[in-house]
Amino acid sequence: MENTRTNGHGDPLSVGAYAGAILEKRSPVTGEKLGEFPITAREGVSTAVARARAAAPAWRATPLQERLRTLGRIKDVVRTHGEEYARRISEDTGKPLVDSLLTELMSVPLFLDYYAKTAPSVLARKKVSTPLMFPGKKSYIEHFPVGVVAVISPWNFPFQLSMVPVLSALIAGNTVVLKPSEVTPLTGEVISEIFRRIGLPEGVLEVVQGDGSTGAALAESDVDKIFFTGSVATGRKIMAAAAKKPIPVELELGGKDAMIVCADAHLERAARAAVWGGLVNCGQMCVSVERILVESSVHDRFVALLEREVGKLRVGGPDEHADVGPMTFGRQIETVERHVRDARAKGAKIVAGGQRMDRPGQFFQPTVLTDVRPDMEIYSDETFGPVLPVMRVRSVDEAVRLANDHQYGLVGSVWTRDVEKGLEIASRLECGQVTVNDVVISVGNPTLPFGGVKSSGFGRYHGPEGLLAFTHQKAIMVDRGTAATEPFWFPYADKYEPVRDLFHGLLGGSLPRALFALNRLRKIGGASAR
Ligand code: NAD
Repeated sequence: MENTRTNGHGDPLSVGAYAGAILEKRSPVTGEKLGEFPITAREGVSTAVARARAAAPAWRATPLQERLRTLGRIKDVVRTHGEEYARRISEDTGKPLVDSLLTELMSVPLFLDYYAKTAPSVLARKKVSTPLMFPGKKSYIEHFPVGVVAVISPWNFPFQLSMVPVLSALIAGNTVVLKPSEVTPLTGEVISEIFRRIGLPEGVLEVVQGDGSTGAALAESDVDKIFFTGSVATGRKIMAAAAKKPIPVELELGGKDAMIVCADAHLERAARAAVWGGLVNCGQMCVSVERILVESSVHDRFVALLEREVGKLRVGGPDEHADVGPMTFGRQIETVERHVRDARAKGAKIVAGGQRMDRPGQFFQPTVLTDVRPDMEIYSDETFGPVLPVMRVRSVDEAVRLANDHQYGLVGSVWTRDVEKGLEIASRLECGQVTVNDVVISVGNPTLPFGGVKSSGFGRYHGPEGLLAFTHQKAIMVDRGTAATEPFWFPYADKYEPVRDLFHGLLGGSLPRALFALNRLRKIGGASAR
């Protein structure tokens, strides 16, 4: 049974075989129903994985330059249809059109250009050194695709967080089954459409729409690696599913990113950065500013600036050209409300916002909280909403200790006019990326590896690691094969003494002694026929 519907833009869309239940999509801006999407059931997932497996040998055998050329056509598609896609992503998520173009669609040309330049050398076979005790041999390292990769993605950046891992895996020679978030199925359709437009061979990318049950079926299916972006709770389930086979997983999970504002920071810049870095995408970012640690002497001035900047923000849907949109996932508002309530009850002060907005849709006021303490949920747990929690600290050392003493370690930022000092603080932070006097931006730089530590997950993508993550490494050692035997092979008779000389020659740093011993061994072993 194949379910076919139109996407409202005229194209027929195949949205997965063997669909069972239906998921209903509503607008985060108005609450109106936008469409119904079949949930791909376990059989449909197996079919998709089998198609991806069947397509794997041919795609892997396709020369890298040809793979890059085929995928490079996506740039033309995105250039031609980008503004329409931005509208559809904004309709799906509620985010401003500026964000859909800048933070979602722009990722595609950025990463495609970067990998077009770097993939040939990153994936090429490399010659490496061979120790002296193995004379006449050559050593190489090469990489080969893992096979079929499952990419399971979240709703906050439903395009970018699907496309970048999918493209990385495809460039590295894998075929892929993508499971986009059930919260943002319209973006899942945009992605299917883009790949259909470039004429990718059948089965190279399969998209299965659905909820957690579809994701679970995919994690348990016949795939060779799972690349997961989402919550810690689901990450644990993914790992458990992968452990049964076992297959490798990469987990890109939550964050509670610390922003350290030193007394010598450019406060105006830091305040604007906090407002953008904490409230862009309505704060629904794994790399959002979620804890602002400010040195005491500048705390009050910084908070006043925050209040001023937050006061300027326009909140609304994409059609209202707002700065901050609604929350994409309705239930996330309950988490935000719970965190704000808990913080208030424990003594935090609300400087701005603090509640749901009195209008249809999923809107929460941009919020600034001060007097935040580590025992508050707003400090200990990921909020994933439009809230800036501020905490006064006595010193930079206290800020670094607090930043590190946390379950999460994804990204951080440091604010000081002394760049050397900023770098030194950056080195002390336990997280995957740090910016000095800037915010979030490092995530958009395709040359920098991205990923977290602790509960923020493990593994890295972007940068060279982003291709290697989808490969296995293979070590190769080569001998010309002309000698009848080798110095270290049987028989061992008469070899103890020269082996001992070799041992002491190498460990004692006496090259002539080691070389002499090796020569003796070769003669005893009959390898002089080389
Ligand atoms: P989620 O864990 O609820 O869902 C993520 C994906 O997993 C969805 O596609 C979902 O359908 C699927 N899923 C749910 N249950 C599953 C199961 N049992 N087996 C397999 N798949 C399953 O996360 P979310 O709410 O969509 O995303 C928000 C979270 O993602 C936040 O914690 C955020 O910090 C994190 N995130 C991390 C990064 C990063 O790069 N580190 C980026 C963005 C978001």
